[in-house]
Amino acid sequence: MLLFKKTTDLQRYLSACRAEGTSVGFVPTMGALHDGHVSLIRQSVATTRCTVCSIFVNPTQFNEAKDLEKYPRTPEKDILLLMGAGCHVLFMPEVDEVYPDGQKTPLDIDFGYLAQPMEGTHRPGHFEGMAQVVRRLLDIVQPAELFMGQKDFQQFAIVRHMLEQLRSPIKLTMCPTIREADGLAMSSRNMRLTPEQRALAPLIFQTLGNAKANMTTLFAEQIKKEAMLALSVPGIVPEYFEMVDGRTLRPVGVFEDHEMVVACTAVRVGEVRLIDNLVMKQS
Ligand code: AMP
Repeated sequence: MLLFKKTTDLQRYLSACRAEGTSVGFVPTMGALHDGHVSLIRQSVATTRCTVCSIFVNPTQFNEAKDLEKYPRTPEKDILLLMGAGCHVLFMPEVDEVYPDGQKTPLDIDFGYLAQPMEGTHRPGHFEGMAQVVRRLLDIVQPAELFMGQKDFQQFAIVRHMLEQLRSPIKLTMCPTIREADGLAMSSRNMRLTPEQRALAPLIFQTLGNAKANMTTLFAEQIKKEAMLALSVPGIVPEYFEMVDGRTLRPVGVFEDHEMVVACTAVRVGEVRLIDNLVMKQS
């Protein structure tokens, strides 16, 4: 695996690859890698000839300074995991490499309603920062294919919208959420949980599963209320539990009116904020 820290070096290498007809797959990450990230790398390796992974803890998408400061960083372990997964290129830039013109470069794309509910409400500015860095990294890497996780469902919807707005030829693939044996979605933030908090966290996936089981008997509004109640246990503070349309992210009323329905939730377990989602229906 090749490691690049400078944008120009990476671009020179990838231009040569593309000139030879090598297809480039891209997996952007913030590091502290786990099997969820590895599954994206493997999918890219299986589909394209050159897989590029970026590790960049993007300051512009953190709405809480403490969250940025405490974000886990495990570069040595990450490199070993990537090599084991068959990744070809790792891009680990410093902030100035990604934002040579400063971090305040605005993104001229309107995400409309997609960026408003759920994470948009609870993490103001997060999606603007996320889209800014994804766009910048795509400009640098210029991949044929981009692989992102279902774990961050709203993020995926926004990136899809951005690629559509830009009329980008990049093929975007959603990779399934990889979970621990007890159902907890893998996340870099899980390593910040104490053993007691870790023991509570599977309740998130259990609640999503119960919501799905109740779809045939309860209305969306009732499911949502029950889920918020189920998640309100000592040690967990639920932020939201929403049943939304899989494309528009608007709240659903009658399930039959939608091709795809997804339940999305975010909770705080102590200082750690965790998100998860489950597809309720897809026709
Ligand atoms: P992050 O490093 O958290 O920014 O995530 C980088 C990419 O990995 C994003 O596309 C995430 O959606 C994806 N990802 C994170 N956790 C998981 C998981 N448990 N399963 C599958 N993909 C994931």
